[in-house]
Amino acid sequence: MAKERSRDALLSLLAKEGNQVCADCGAPDPDWASYTLGVFICLSCSGIHRNIPHLSKVKSVRLDEWDGAQVEFMASTGNTAMRAKYESEIPPFYYKPTFSDCLLLREQWIRAKYERKEFIYIEKQEPYSAGYREGFLWKRGRDNGQFLTRKFVLSEREGALKYYNKNDAKDPKAIMKIEHLNATFQPGKIGNPHGLQITYLKDNSTRNIFIYHEDGKEMVDWFNAIRAARFHYLQVAFPGASNADLVPKLSRNYLKEGYMEKTGPKVGRAVFSVCAKSNKRKASRSVGSPWTIGGSCISKIPWMPLPGGKSSSGARKTATRCWKDSLRPPKGTTGRTASPSSPRTGSSFSPARRRPNSRSGSRPSRK
Ligand SMILES: [Zn+2]
Repeated sequence: MAKERSRDALLSLLAKEGNQVCADCGAPDPDWASYTLGVFICLSCSGIHRNIPHLSKVKSVRLDEWDGAQVEFMASTGNTAMRAKYESEIPPFYYKPTFSDCLLLREQWIRAKYERKEFIYIEKQEPYSAGYREGFLWKRGRDNGQFLTRKFVLSEREGALKYYNKNDAKDPKAIMKIEHLNATFQPGKIGNPHGLQITYLKDNSTRNIFIYHEDGKEMVDWFNAIRAARFHYLQVAFPGASNADLVPKLSRNYLKEGYMEKTGPKVGRAVFSVCAKSNKRKASRSVGSPWTIGGSCISKIPWMPLPGGKSSSGARKTATRCWKDSLRPPKGTTGRTASPSSPRTGSSFSPARRRPNSRSGSRPSRK
């Protein structure tokens, strides 16, 4: 009888405002709870909480037994109250993951929130909010696909992310302007759970580098440092814009990426990315139409907004750039290509065959 009363009380708590979505990732209808932190969470987040047992103890609302004191605690806390406590100082640029994000982002979000209490104590945000960050990351080589450690420096003052091939090198191997930078986690593509893809512009064409760090916190700190740098850059570039306008431009998530046959003036196979965020653009027919995915024709493709909210002609240019830069004809076809002699052909988007070499198991050396 007491058990049933506890269950009924918990179920009515679940129906309350704030408890209807997971406290950590926003997934609907959570039916797990951390009875030490006082939040209702989804099954997936409960798995992450389980890995922080000194802080969070989880139970199923429906399947486990609850005693009266635990139910009372949940009633006195709940998602809205705990969000006010643990999320009171989230920087506007900080990426709050959702249930569709990779495990690394979700796990580090939960650890940052409850374990490190980064959004209660602002001084703990220094690794990504200081405007400067340097460290060693594994970077995939362009030619042989092996990962090698490289020194990276992000400087808001210089407006760039740079990396160096040698520790004592004076000149960076690449200077990636914050203005054109995009960072997105691509664990499957890179073959590492912490794999980050950085996209930037060089000589008007899109380039990619693939990096990771064994320490998940380090990698997510880099990601948020890049977002912070872009946020501050955009604040200066668009002084009247609100945070709500700027935040969606900090980084883009590619929902879909793959090869499409393209007809038009230049026939060939191209890599296209479709952005997850709103503000979608329909690519103009002048890019070439129709496009097909897996044999089915699509005439309208939602296209990614450009940093800084450029016009659709800007989006068109990006589409063309991506296409040229990433062009790689399928094996066994004789389709014409836009730039068959490009030295980068085939180097950008063939991650399935690239794996970290044996050195990837060790931590990049630090000085
Ligand atoms: Zn969740």
